[in-house]
Amino acid sequence: MTRALSTKTENIAASLTVAIDTLAKQMIADGKDVVSLGAGEPDFPTPTPIQDAACEAIRTGKTRYTAPVGILEVRKAVAEKLKKENGIDYAPEQIIMTSGAKHAVFNALAALVNPGDEVIIPAPYWVTYPELVKWLGGKPVFVQAGIENDFKITAKQLSEACTDKTKAILLNNPCNPTGSVYSREELASLAKVIVEKDIYCISDEVYEYFTYSGSFVSAAAFDGMPERTIVVNGFSKSYCMTGWRIGYDAAPAPIAKIIGKIQGQATHHPSNVAQYAALAALQMGKASTESMCAAFKKRRDFMVERMSAILGESVKAPAGAFYLFLPVSKLYGKTTPEGTKIEGSIDFCKFLLESEGLAIVPGAAFGDDTCMRFSYAASDESLAKACERFERGVKSLRG
Ligand code: GLU
Repeated sequence: MTRALSTKTENIAASLTVAIDTLAKQMIADGKDVVSLGAGEPDFPTPTPIQDAACEAIRTGKTRYTAPVGILEVRKAVAEKLKKENGIDYAPEQIIMTSGAKHAVFNALAALVNPGDEVIIPAPYWVTYPELVKWLGGKPVFVQAGIENDFKITAKQLSEACTDKTKAILLNNPCNPTGSVYSREELASLAKVIVEKDIYCISDEVYEYFTYSGSFVSAAAFDGMPERTIVVNGFSKSYCMTGWRIGYDAAPAPIAKIIGKIQGQATHHPSNVAQYAALAALQMGKASTESMCAAFKKRRDFMVERMSAILGESVKAPAGAFYLFLPVSKLYGKTTPEGTKIEGSIDFCKFLLESEGLAIVPGAAFGDDTCMRFSYAASDESLAKACERFERGVKSLRG
């Protein structure tokens, strides 16, 4: 066959977080001794009330099509959650259930982006954002946030990045991969620019329950924001439901309508059973999420302490999510025992996987080659092993 395949699809990169997770899981299945801190995937089981609700849904015939936007009960529960916990008003009609938060980001971009539109993405960013923007014919515009500003962009930077082609900003707070969390004041100053420049905001809030100091504030919680903000969230991280693929968009009414239309054509709706499971998650209270957050805080502190000792310099503790975005560029230029020079984060991660059986994600995948991302949503034992392997790998470098 000689006919060309879709060029716009050929022009986007595959997800490196997914690729590394898949590779590590395959290596483990093949009997290799690999510790994976690649994907951000909580190691705890899905809480029992959610499991029970899903079994009950299957037994009681919740196994047929639902409306493209999802079942009303869960959309009502999401609207109530947004009101109660985040102080934001989105009616049940404005909630669209999706197959995970990634799908919700895709929906939001698909509803907004015309060819040539610019979408501002603070960098470091989650791997998926620029690729989806490109796939839809838009242009990602990166606003670099350095480690000196705690990996957070300022209102001035945002204002300077806006042009007459800017359609939206894609915010991720708390941030994957950096773990940074914007304060209320910082978000208020960004919101002011977003409203002044009259652009949309896609706010991916999937790590909202994982903040270790200060509290989480939604980007939609400021004057002028609800009518321009699509809030994205999901159950994968907060309720250990990665494989269930369930999340949602909360969008201004006209955008919610468009997303419903897209979904009706593309996927029809997320799994009916997973929607009932999500409903149970929203009804079960926060005890399990809080205890998971407490466990992650301890793990974060362990990682920060160990990494500071290994690198011989103090590593700053991230304020949220469950990733450590570790600056490692001072090790670049060194040579592995096999004689390969480490030129950047990709080489370094390759070396650690091949020589030490340690899977982590290179910072280059997130738009910052000076760092590497460790997910600490893994067992204490895995984290201890990972640190040992990292230390051995670092000590083996020459030069
Ligand atoms: N969001 C997680 C991560 O960044 C899971 C993998 C993915 O969807 O990218 O590791």
